[in-house]
Amino acid sequence: MVLWQKLESPLMTTTANTHSDIHALLAANKKWAAETAAARPDFFTTLMAQQAPQYMWVGCSDSRVPANQITGLEPGEVFVHRNVANMIVHSDLNMLSAVQYAVDVLKIKHLLIVGHYGCGGVGAALSNVRIGVGDNWIRHIKDVRNLHWDFLASIPEEKRHATLCELNVVEQTFNAARSSVVQDAWERGNDLSVHGWIYGLKDGLLHDLHIDVSSRSETKSHYDNAIALIKQRALQ
Ligand code: ZN
Repeated sequence: MVLWQKLESPLMTTTANTHSDIHALLAANKKWAAETAAARPDFFTTLMAQQAPQYMWVGCSDSRVPANQITGLEPGEVFVHRNVANMIVHSDLNMLSAVQYAVDVLKIKHLLIVGHYGCGGVGAALSNVRIGVGDNWIRHIKDVRNLHWDFLASIPEEKRHATLCELNVVEQTFNAARSSVVQDAWERGNDLSVHGWIYGLKDGLLHDLHIDVSSRSETKSHYDNAIALIKQRALQ
């Protein structure tokens, strides 16, 4: 249970302080809104008129990986979908609806699939712990684990979690590139690229996993190269 509890523990600390914690959030919001409006009087009216982000971020729900903060992007600049372990599951209508809206309506240019080291969801897949209904979601990460198990079993145990976090990002980026939404956009000639990144909790840095796909024809070769690079690094 340890890895999963780590992921969820911030949400489970329901204590007597809950009400004052909640009021603190509302007070902080009031302060932020007032300061923002004073510094930039047209900030909210511009955002209200339209959102025109260039980027969509599909990341992990983990509270330590907030898309806007770590990329220096402001409200209106990145469209976000988050789930446990940044998964692109072909039958997930929630994720597909968000991606389709971003691609077809907002006309984003970059779809970013962003994982992170120390991911509790990936850890649960690796250690086979049972967590409840989430097991069915983790099953998709276990499929990635099984796909690469021969390699993962061949490297030192202490490298497996980080390596599976990286492999999972590349697999999900590959899934995104093969989704009907992205394939249709490329078919129409849209300028759209899909990228795979991973975030380091210990230093706050995003690392490029060298999978950047802009067309159907390059999808498989870029995927193969990115997987090979991860394996090369894990063997060093
Ligand atoms: Zn995670």
